[in-house]
Parts: sequence; structure tokens; C-alpha cells
Amino acid sequence: MTKAVVVGSGPNGLAAAVTLAKAGVDVEVLEAADRPGGGTRSSELALPGLIHDECSGFHPLAVDTAFSRSVDLARFGLTWRWPEVQYAHPLDGGRGAAVLRSVEETAASLGPDGRRWRQVFGPLTERFDRITSDFLRPVVRVPSHPVAMTRFGALSALPASVLAKGWSTEEARSLFGGVAAHAVRPLSAPFSAAIGVALGTAAHAYGWPVAEGGSAAINRAMIAALEEHGGKVETNVRVESLEQVGDADLVLLDLAPSAAVRIVGDAMPAKIRRALLRYRHGPGVFKVDFALSGEVPWTHEASRRAGTVHVVGDYAELARAEQDVVSGRMPDRPYVLVGQQYLADPSRAEGTVRPLYTYAHVPSGYGGDATLLIESQIERFAPGFRDLILARTVQTTAQLEERNANYLGGDVITGANTARQLIFRPRVTLHPYGLGVPGVFGCSAATPPGAGAHGMCGYNAARAALASLR
Ligand SMILES: Cc1cc2nc3c(=O)[nH]c(=O)nc-3n(C[C@H](O)[C@H](O)[C@H](O)COP(=O)(O)OP(=O)(O)OC[C@H]3O[C@@H](n4cnc5c(N)ncnc54)[C@H](O)[C@@H]3O)c2cc1C
Repeated sequence: MTKAVVVGSGPNGLAAAVTLAKAGVDVEVLEAADRPGGGTRSSELALPGLIHDECSGFHPLAVDTAFSRSVDLARFGLTWRWPEVQYAHPLDGGRGAAVLRSVEETAASLGPDGRRWRQVFGPLTERFDRITSDFLRPVVRVPSHPVAMTRFGALSALPASVLAKGWSTEEARSLFGGVAAHAVRPLSAPFSAAIGVALGTAAHAYGWPVAEGGSAAINRAMIAALEEHGGKVETNVRVESLEQVGDADLVLLDLAPSAAVRIVGDAMPAKIRRALLRYRHGPGVFKVDFALSGEVPWTHEASRRAGTVHVVGDYAELARAEQDVVSGRMPDRPYVLVGQQYLADPSRAEGTVRPLYTYAHVPSGYGGDATLLIESQIERFAPGFRDLILARTVQTTAQLEERNANYLGGDVITGANTARQLIFRPRVTLHPYGLGVPGVFGCSAATPPGAGAHGMCGYNAARAALASLR
């Protein structure tokens, strides 16, 4: 029987493990931390009984993928819950904008910019299942749906600032800018629209759901599926070299490229090693999880109903903040992402106490404390917020990296979303999962299609590994 070892139990490691186990491979997952799940862990971070997502909170790209269709995670307890408003962007003076599932209703709320919102997101939303089947795999392949992909690709290749200029109101410009900023790139850079176009369309096509009970439900369901096929996960095992994986026929590394280079060692061809060591990481995040005695008193009404709130101010402030963090400067008014998972999933709240999830974009390896800056940004759009704080827990960039070695310098998306790395990751090749050693593959978010708790890097890598056996 073919034997495989997967190193790292993030969503990609687990998706790879499930895919291999379903194909009849004997699979063992080795995880350095004391709990499995990588970026899908959740726990009581601020007060007992109150579940916070430690990393991923919202899962627009996990709902309908080749991986999710290959295994029925609902049978193993995964239930998606949707907020009424997918994401919102408050502005000063109680103004703001918000995205609903319906393109039409969203467009109707954007006044003179509604028509263009419909033009950009309407056709993409209608064809998003076809588009995702192409972009959730290496994009250097010939697309199966060239017409849909051409439109998606043309918009994605633009700087976000060029796309944003097409909207005349501050509301629509910031609404798009806030979602484009998930790329953590300067908004004037080529391809900086890509993540905004993808996540913005996904909000209409699939919504931005949370996992009922916390994101750990995702890894629990994947582990249950793995165990049903005879696989297992061992925690507290940090893999430092290939010798540790014994006589496995296949080794899949759910790791950052630099760790893969270290572990594979001299067996890796020098050319591939050099290419992987050139892989670039992006800025970091600084995370604060709060326990609140009530709901956030946003002055912008739709933000009170939104799962995700992008808090930074107007488009110009957003563009400045993102440019600053990429240039290594901490902005006074950073981009803060606020997660109100309890709106979609009331099981997260304990009576009137609410878990609030927040993080700010910060420079790579930022050594300061961004707690006050995050609180000031929220207070600016929700006066009275500070009075609700019962407890808070902070994760610095160093702590994020200590808890998960893939998050170098606090880079929680495992690699900068530069134009080159959006198309070719982790190196320029037609075989992005191969590491130059027979049977050894990369499967983390540093491989296509990139960051997110969708498991598609792991699924694609496992299929490449299985193909190598034939
Ligand atoms: C604060 C934050 C917010 C996020 N928000 C979202 C979101 O809302 N939606 C979304 O889709 N994504 C989000 N993400 C990103 C998402 O979590 C990641 O892209 C995803 O988890 C990547 O999965 P992965 O399997 O590639 O790696 P990871 O989830 O990083 O898992 C890697 C695993 O490998 C283990 N490991 C590392 N080195 C070793 C070793 N030497 N030996 C053994 N094990 C090792 C680690 O401990 C970890 O468990 C967020 C991440 C963070 C941190």
C-alpha cells in the first residue's frame, strides 16, 4: 500500500491528506502544534466559553470547490452560516456602503455608482462557478472557460486604483478598495485588483460564511473524513528533515517555501532551492480579539448587520495605509478588519457577551503594539465601543509566527500577492507543487491558488502526487 506523510495540518495539509486517503493511500499527518488545524483553529481567546477564530474567519472561496464537492464535510459536522450583510465599509459621519448577496440590491444602494457595480460584478457572479474552476488551480493552465476567464483576468490584472476610479462616490470606491485590500498590496500595483475582484464576486455568488461553532469545525470535519478513510493526525511533532518521515512513498509539505528548502535539504536541486529562497513574504497582521458586553455601536447602520467590516476611512486613507505597511511604516490609521461572526452564528455569543475578531495590517515583523490604534479606528466609526470592552487578547506578528511557522513576520497569507506570485507560486514553473525530488511536493498556501482556508492547494497537490505514481 502506498504510504504518505503530510507535514502540517492546515486546511491544505488536511485537504491533501483526505484526497490521498480517499484514493487508497495510507496517510499520516504530522503537526508541530499541540492542536491540529493551522489557520482554521479556534479557541476561547478572551473569556471562557467565548469562541474566537484564531485565524480564518470567513470562507467565501471554500463553499463550492472541487475539494468541497469531493468530500461531504457537512456529514462530519461542518455547517456554514451567512450574515445578512456580507461586508460593509463605514465612513465618517454615519455614511458608508455595504454588500448584500444580491448584486441588484447592492447596486440599488449605491446610487449613481450602482450601474457600474452591476456591470463589474453582475456578469462575473453569473459565471463564478466556471471562473473558480479555472482560478482555483494553477492559472498557467489553458482555461476550461476562456470567455468567463478573459473578463475575470482583464479586471484582475488592473491596479485596484484604476478600477476604483470608475466609481464616482466615496461609498462605492471605498467599498471596492476595502475588499481589494485583502491582497495587502499597494492599491496602485498591477494585479492589485485581483483579490478584490475575486472576493467581491464571491460575496455575491457564495456569500462570506462562517463555520458554525468556530472555524475549527472545518478542521474537525476534515479530520473525521480522513479518519474514516484510515488516515490519522499526530500533533506535537515538528518535522525538521526528510529522515523524520521514514519510508513514505509520498511526502507533502504544508509549509512556507523556506521551510521546505530546510527540510528537503541537499536532495533539492540547487536551481529549485534558489527559486524558492527568492519567494517573497508580505506584510504582517496584528490581531486583537475582544470580549464585548454588547454589539458594536456602528453609526453606519448596515455595518451593524455585517459579518465583516473594513475599518480605515475613505479610499485615500486606505490607499495610504496599505502603501505604508508595504513600505515598512506603521500607519497612524491602519486598515482594520473587524469580524462579527456572532451575527451569522449566534452560538458564538455567551448571553449578551460577544466575541469580536479584529486585526490590522502592519509592516512585516512589526514589533510595536497596535492595540490602541485598532481601538481608535473602531471608536471613530462606533463611538462608545471602548466602554463595551470586557477583555482582550493580543497576537503580535512574532506570536503569530511562533504559533504557526508558515506566518513569517506575521504574513498570514503565506506570501506576498505580487503580480508574479499571483500567477506563478512558489516559483516560475508548470509544475508548482513539485519540489524537484521524486515523491516530495509542496501543498501550502504558497502554492496555487494561494491563501485562504479553501484547501484547494492541498487538493491540487495531492492530485499531482497521485499522478506521479502512475
Ligand atoms: C489572522 C488571520 C486571518 C485570516 N482570515 C482568513 C479568512 O477570513 N478567510 C480565509 O479563507 N483565510 C484567512 N486566513 C488565511 C488562512 O488561514 C490561510 O491561508 C490558510 O490557513 C493556509 O492554509 P495552509 O494549510 O496552507 O497552512 P496553515 O493553515 O498555515 O497550516 C500550516 C500548518 O503547518 C504546521 N507546521 C509548520 N511548520 C511545521 C513543521 N516543521 N512540522 C510540522 N508542522 C508544521 C503549522 O503549525 C500549521 O498547523 C487568515 C489567517 C490569519 C492568521
